[in-house]
Amino acid sequence: MHIPSTIERKRDGHSLTDEEIREVIRAYTLGTMPDYQMSALAMAIYFRGMDARETASLTRAMLESGERMQYPDGAPRIVDKHSTGGVGDKVSLILAPLLACDDLWVPMISGRGLGITGGTLDKLESIPGFRVGLSQAEALAQLESLGVVMMGQTGTICPADKKLYALRDVTATVPSLPLLTSSIMSKKLAESLDALVLDVKYGSGAFMKTRSESEALGEAMREVGEAMGVTMRVCYHAMDEPTGRAVGNALEVVESIEVLRGGGPGDLRDLVITLASQVSLVDAGQLERWLDDGTAFAKFREMVACQGGDASSLDDFSRVHPAAVIREIRAPRSGVVSRVDAETVGRACIALGAGRSRADEAINPAVGFDEIVKVGADVNAADLIARVHAANEGDAIEAERRFLGGYACE
Ligand code: URA
Repeated sequence: MHIPSTIERKRDGHSLTDEEIREVIRAYTLGTMPDYQMSALAMAIYFRGMDARETASLTRAMLESGERMQYPDGAPRIVDKHSTGGVGDKVSLILAPLLACDDLWVPMISGRGLGITGGTLDKLESIPGFRVGLSQAEALAQLESLGVVMMGQTGTICPADKKLYALRDVTATVPSLPLLTSSIMSKKLAESLDALVLDVKYGSGAFMKTRSESEALGEAMREVGEAMGVTMRVCYHAMDEPTGRAVGNALEVVESIEVLRGGGPGDLRDLVITLASQVSLVDAGQLERWLDDGTAFAKFREMVACQGGDASSLDDFSRVHPAAVIREIRAPRSGVVSRVDAETVGRACIALGAGRSRADEAINPAVGFDEIVKVGADVNAADLIARVHAANEGDAIEAERRFLGGYACE
């Protein structure tokens, strides 16, 4: 196949055939199609879109680039949740071990930071020793012993998404319905799920800015999932302010541990319970009790230890990645907070070093924001409205300036 002709056809607004899509994904996974051609094709898809058939075909080709999880006869119900991405969205870290307190298996395959949104894998890797690159055999053994595994795409599980996801992150090709659908659903279908809950975000800190765009994405994913026999639950949530009060990899682990121990911000806890209830066998009250009585935290600790992580670091995780500089941001005046713009906070966080501008770049787990005030709070002038964690004073000052640009109080 002549790849430049396929890129050209998409650039000019034509539909690609199933054969072209399969061939492109095969060549890219094998490494015979270089990143520069895939970048051009992804940008052409971004601008031209794909119809439902092409989107389903792309999802299937990405799924078939690797193996699907296989479970023994008599395995418990297999469930998962996936978010389309948001700022401060650390729900997975809490929800996966929480669901595994039930008689369920949760084989969660996640991604790294994408655009302005943080990634579950980057957050987990801020736990010293934590391994996200597991084989299918290791994942299965862990499901059998614990009921939960949190891992990334590998060379054998969703290899096409592993490469394309990293490429989209640094080529401004994330917010595209067919690319989002195929990325998310290829991973979830590789998990061979019985049921999946999708948290589809809309708003400033999401890839879909309006509710109607997010509904189109949610419906596209539902169609692909149902066609493959998965029970689909699709929820829609606004993402105009960060979820919880912390944004940044290690800072989000700290906040997740708070919720796993029965505390933490109410909006985050409520979101976890709402989403978990969609696929759980028990009611919301029982899920809440597992957060409050330490059962969910114990499961998280066990999972961390099983994946090579230092479980004792979780006891006081705020000490694990101390930032060189912590700067307090104070309210410019008194009033009710009307805006803490998620996109602004996400971009400021990337500028601090929490995300990548090149695919091979390391991230800084320590940087970000915490103690972020919530919309609707009453503040007095000079009250603390957030703290910046930065690598140096200059970055901290710039982050404060950016944060205040997205903050308003009336
Ligand atoms: N999550 C994914 O797995 N892929 C995307 O493209 C966005 C969110």
